[in-house]
Amino acid sequence: MHNRTKEKNRGTTKRILSRFMIFLAMFLLLVTAGRTAMAAEGLEVHFLNVGQGDSTLIRQGDHAMLIDAGREEDKDTILNYLLSTEGITSLDYVVGTHPHEDHIGSLDSVIESVNVGEVLLPDVITTTRTFEQVLTAIDSKGLGITVPVPGTSYPLGDASFTVFAPVSDYGDDLNNWSIALKVTYGESDFLFTGDAEASAEQDIVSAGFDLSADVFQAGHHGSDTSNSNLLLDSADPAFVVISCGAGNSYGHPNQEALDRFWNHGAKIFRTDAQGTIVASSDGTSISWSTEPSENWAPGGASSLATTRGAGSSSEIQVHITETGSKYHSAGCQYLRSSDIIVTLDDAKARGLTPCSKCNPPQ
Ligand SMILES: [Zn+2]
Ligand SMILES: [Zn+2]
Repeated sequence: MHNRTKEKNRGTTKRILSRFMIFLAMFLLLVTAGRTAMAAEGLEVHFLNVGQGDSTLIRQGDHAMLIDAGREEDKDTILNYLLSTEGITSLDYVVGTHPHEDHIGSLDSVIESVNVGEVLLPDVITTTRTFEQVLTAIDSKGLGITVPVPGTSYPLGDASFTVFAPVSDYGDDLNNWSIALKVTYGESDFLFTGDAEASAEQDIVSAGFDLSADVFQAGHHGSDTSNSNLLLDSADPAFVVISCGAGNSYGHPNQEALDRFWNHGAKIFRTDAQGTIVASSDGTSISWSTEPSENWAPGGASSLATTRGAGSSSEIQVHITETGSKYHSAGCQYLRSSDIIVTLDDAKARGLTPCSKCNPPQ
């Protein structure tokens, strides 16, 4: 009787043990599966919403890089995104396109918070405290600075990127010193030019690099002074992603730049209206975390003025469709298939006339 109880207990212990082993195996499987899911299957390009600034995370497999790190005040946004949302513990590359605060503001915090392979900066210095803090962070991590030579390619897992700029000496003009680069994964190309202005864009085009890209991050937050037709002709992007802050004081994206994107047949995404935007490529085609924006009205103060109901015709917004010859008020029945927001001035400049059904502003 006594022995049998013992036998029974041993059996129970065995059962519990084997159950535990199954549980352990399942747990390990889950953890492993979780890990695999954390790595980017194809190429992922995350255009972070950092207000009036730039910060773009690029992932391929277990590899990642960050182009710019917003302003100082975007530190928590960027670190939360990297560490919590994406589970990033190391970045193969950190690129500071140029030493303006809206691009390197939180670069020091990023460098301090994750393992960093290489730091890429252009060969220009400035005397701001922000820039000093970046240098201090690089130094205290025992890292060096890589000044990339245009034409050089760097591996990023199964992807790679090639640096195109700066190709010249731009003196004190920090924007034109921007590192420009193209990330390539299979047949998908993503082009970044920082805040390079039209003259630097011309130098990049003249240098003869293959700038063709599916996706172009609008230069200088969609400024009129960048995004020249020359560059857009060379890059010929199907998509343009504009990183800018809602209600920014520069009016980014500017109407003239938006018109050029439109005339080149590009679809746009904008962080001021859509938040963080993620593009994924399987090497052949690109998918997006959201639909392209149908807001083609310039950003900044003028759009705020419009929502407050103030302003001249350059601030009044109307609605148009992809192919129609009329412009409309919001909610018009003719906007069912497509609904694109433009300024009244722009609608008139396109030769559109007011809809007779909805009585738009004239
Ligand atoms: Zn900028
Ligand atoms: Zn700048």
